[in-house]
Amino acid sequence: MKKKQKIIAVLPGDGIGPEVINETYKIIKVLNNYFNLNIKTKEYHIGGIAIDKFGTGLPEITISGCKKANAILLGSVGGPKWNFLPLNKQPERSGLLKLRKKFNFFCNLRPAKLHIELQNLSPLKKEITLKGFNILCIRELTGGIYFGKPKGIKKNKNEKYAFDTEIYSEFEIKRIANIAFEIAQKKKLKITSIDKANVLESSVLWRRTVEKIAKKFPSVPLKHLYVDNAAMQIIKDPSQFDIILTSNLFGDILSDECAAITGSIGMLPSASFNEKKFGMYEPAGGSAPDIQNKNVANPIAQILSLSMLIEYSLNKPKIAFAINKSINEVLKKGYRTLDISNNKENFVTTKEMGNLITEFLIKEYEKNGKNIISKDI
Ligand code: NAD
Repeated sequence: MKKKQKIIAVLPGDGIGPEVINETYKIIKVLNNYFNLNIKTKEYHIGGIAIDKFGTGLPEITISGCKKANAILLGSVGGPKWNFLPLNKQPERSGLLKLRKKFNFFCNLRPAKLHIELQNLSPLKKEITLKGFNILCIRELTGGIYFGKPKGIKKNKNEKYAFDTEIYSEFEIKRIANIAFEIAQKKKLKITSIDKANVLESSVLWRRTVEKIAKKFPSVPLKHLYVDNAAMQIIKDPSQFDIILTSNLFGDILSDECAAITGSIGMLPSASFNEKKFGMYEPAGGSAPDIQNKNVANPIAQILSLSMLIEYSLNKPKIAFAINKSINEVLKKGYRTLDISNNKENFVTTKEMGNLITEFLIKEYEKNGKNIISKDI
């Protein structure tokens, strides 16, 4: 029996966005033809291309298309072509940030996995990377010091002063902690909640509230770290972390630190959720205009973003795992795109990488397909 149709609003955007999104279509075709999914994709414009066509980074038609969908798959936005525009009219502000605000995506998930085959890309010492790591950063995205009021620059006599407000309500902490604990419970992971509770009142409330939520999830191990210590521990031994749960400001910095130690921006996906668990999925990197239209972009971050969508929005973790496994197999066999290749003469193109992952996914279906489908109900 064919499954109920699920709609993905696909927003390729600018730069390498359309190229890497094209590779996800190959995967979706396999999911529909082999894995008994019924995914329909509908494309909409966002960012620079939307400015060119509609005069705005986020046209109404894109918003209404996203509202009707089960999830959003985004490429990336921006590029030098639109740099002359005033800041609030540029693709990121008028497209992506507006979209995030429109759907109130308060929870951001950024996995930072070091693939054992790609250890050499990490800037960390080999004795540290030998253990590998797989950290899921869960960052609060709509509160804290980035949005807290009052903020501003004022003058007292002749001296300028500036101020921002780090503010969190209990409800904001509860809703993100709930998501982190649900994921940890399902995946049998431990949580490290990161704050600065030795100095900041907002962190004292953060810690107390996280502990309250933890009581509902007794099987999930919870530890607290101060942010300064966390920044050190991530460098010294990233393998000690499963889930990092933290505020907007600390998450901004620590998720980039976690990404940097994998050494490969082209491999990192991300997901954002709102209160209804509606999700948007996109690579952690940008539109990479320096490599646009050269068929050298790494499509893995985009394919992993699709995999997260399948897991979290379509609730098919086994199928998502099969996609991830296919990527691992391709890497194990030694295939590399230019950005992750040691040998700059010998690498596979964007399209070839997409084809390889697709082929391995079909092989995975032939080996374990029935089992995967039957377990993923
Ligand atoms: P970037 O992430 O686009 O590029 C940084 C470097 O990483 C470049 O050398 C690029 O070639 C490389 N890179 C990134 N993704 C890659 C991939 N999949 N495969 C291979 N190499 C990859 O960051 P940037 O250069 O600072 O920004 C470029 C544009 O992207 C700017 O207009 C910026 O505003 C925009 N941007 C968009 C987003 C988004 O859409 N979410 C995020 C960050 C930056």
